Amino acid sequence: MHELKKLSKQELILETQTAIIDERKATTRILRCFREIESRMLYAEFGYSSLYEMATKHFGLSEGSAHRRISAMRLVRDLPEIAEAVEGGTISLTVASMMQDFFRAEKREKKTYAMEDKLALVRKMEGKSKRDCERALRAISPLFETQERERVLSPKAIEVRFVMSPELAAKLAKLKGLLAHRTKGNSTYAKLFEVMAEIVIEEVDPQGKVSEESPAENPTSPARERGVVRRARYIPRKVNRELWRRAGGRCEYVDPETNKRCESKWGLERDHVVPFGQGGSSSSENLRLICRTHNGLAAVQVYGREKMKGYLPALK
Ligand SMILES: [Zn+2]
Repeated sequence: MHELKKLSKQELILETQTAIIDERKATTRILRCFREIESRMLYAEFGYSSLYEMATKHFGLSEGSAHRRISAMRLVRDLPEIAEAVEGGTISLTVASMMQDFFRAEKREKKTYAMEDKLALVRKMEGKSKRDCERALRAISPLFETQERERVLSPKAIEVRFVMSPELAAKLAKLKGLLAHRTKGNSTYAKLFEVMAEIVIEEVDPQGKVSEESPAENPTSPARERGVVRRARYIPRKVNRELWRRAGGRCEYVDPETNKRCESKWGLERDHVVPFGQGGSSSSENLRLICRTHNGLAAVQVYGREKMKGYLPALK
């Protein structure tokens, strides 16, 4: 910092310019590394449930920074033609990640884009600011919100922002009426979500009341024939409950090298350590609770990358 004081104004401008170019190069390297980590599923091996979790917890990136880099990387992965524009900065990270979010949101709405249409739309955003890009995307899809926002206001308050369709708004309005006896006249969305959460948790949480339907059985693995799934479903409720209690409702994957355990509570599935088809029993000793990601990793380790490519897009 002291050195900078001695620079002439031209030198200072040049120094800044060089630093900006270096930063761009570093970003490009990060995107390429992320892509390699993702295609090898290294985050899963290290006990993380996603690349995003590894980026924030292992590499210490902020949530926004991790999200932008990963989304931009995936856009470039799907559209290699734009790599240069992203790496050169004519398509900013923010715009690239917004485009990726947009295509994902459109896909959820069952709107698919041909590769050349995707490419044409991305090309149109070259040189555009975040705001202009957002405006252009809303003109195509009025409900598009760049990202649902969750912001910690204080240790006791979290603000959440998202956009909903009129249909969902109507359903929530109806629920406000139907649940008025439980919300006790408090007609805010916050109260409504609190009551809804209580009702749903009671319904689906295997750690609470013993539910009729236990969690799904490993759907990504190609070897699980229909009949096997049906037979395996009859894991006694007592065993199921034991399994959930032992796992504490969290994925049980542990990185054999570092002993780091995955913390994911997302989409947990029961997995037979010795496969059911090979005579593995449905006792809790032969079962483990694992998240989607680690289910995928197990499948890759058993069946190989090539076979799993069709099931796991990250392996591209
Ligand atoms: Zn996991």
